[in-house]
Amino acid sequence: MAKRRIAHIVAEHYATARARLLELATQEGEPLGFTGGQYIIIDSGIEVADGKKVKRAYSVITSDTEQNCFQLAIRRIGGGLGSNFMNDIAVGTELAFSGPWGKWRPDATGRAGETKADGVPKADGTPADGTETPATAVGPVAGTNRVDTGATVVLATDTGITAALGLLRGGQFRDRLSLTTVVWCVDSDDYFLPPGLVRDLIPAGCDSFQIRFLPPVGHPDRVVAARSILADILARTRYRDAYLVGDGTVLLPLAQDLGDAGMAGHRIRVEYFFNRPPKKS
Ligand SMILES: Cc1cc2nc3c(=O)[nH]c(=O)nc-3n(C[C@H](O)[C@H](O)[C@H](O)COP(=O)(O)OP(=O)(O)OC[C@H]3O[C@@H](n4cnc5c(N)ncnc54)[C@H](O)[C@@H]3O)c2cc1C
Repeated sequence: MAKRRIAHIVAEHYATARARLLELATQEGEPLGFTGGQYIIIDSGIEVADGKKVKRAYSVITSDTEQNCFQLAIRRIGGGLGSNFMNDIAVGTELAFSGPWGKWRPDATGRAGETKADGVPKADGTPADGTETPATAVGPVAGTNRVDTGATVVLATDTGITAALGLLRGGQFRDRLSLTTVVWCVDSDDYFLPPGLVRDLIPAGCDSFQIRFLPPVGHPDRVVAARSILADILARTRYRDAYLVGDGTVLLPLAQDLGDAGMAGHRIRVEYFFNRPPKKS
């Protein structure tokens, strides 16, 4: 059973009717113990009709070089119980949580990371067929465009930008920042955290950050639009690694496109925040 831990909400750094950025402190300064890209599961204490508790995952957006205080950003999702709880809870309140959790993070070798994309990596990051695949850069032919050895693309849709921020700001990612392209796909400037704030939170050493607009979640043209954004990005730079996070409806085809373009499966890390594709039986 997951260990129950406690944190206090110590500050609110940003709030609109739609979203909130909170700072939390662990109990008695106990380190959270997270790596950038990981999340915690908040227990709202709310019980629904069948007695099930409303527990929701939220990614840490601050750097893992600070472990006693950390920040979460939460978007209100319609009448959803978890996101409304987090948007309405008072500063000073004690929150129960478990974690940190998640394998969507860099490791020492630059390999692995959780992915649920069918046909690419297994949960432990090894290729689907069990073989080790040499790193293959995906993108334009050398000589026709800018070529970056070991370049990384971090593509977040919607609220997935939180995990991307944690990943990028983490200590283990520092060495890769200068070769990293960050893309945030959202339906509008006022979708979640304001673009200026997100831009400020992206570490200065990052090669580039761009916001690209997608039709809203659930729109029939969303996947086509996302694939076209990815194709555009791949036409400019060769990438060896990809980190995808957010809407599963979009990310599964993008992971497949990266695989089809020759990127090694274990270098495509995917984290689904919502619309998680069903597991293959
Ligand atoms: C690993 C992980 C990390 C996450 N980190 C964050 C985070 O840092 N910030 C954050 O705001 N959310 C994050 N989420 C989403 C969060 O856990 C909840 O799903 C979300 O807050 C909605 O919960 P709810 O109880 O309000 O609504 P529910 O009633 O649980 O959700 C209603 C529906 O909305 C879906 N949904 C969730 N998010 C979105 C979205 N952005 N757009 C459209 N539909 C959505 C849910 O999957 C569900 O089908 C994360 C999810 C995962 C799996």
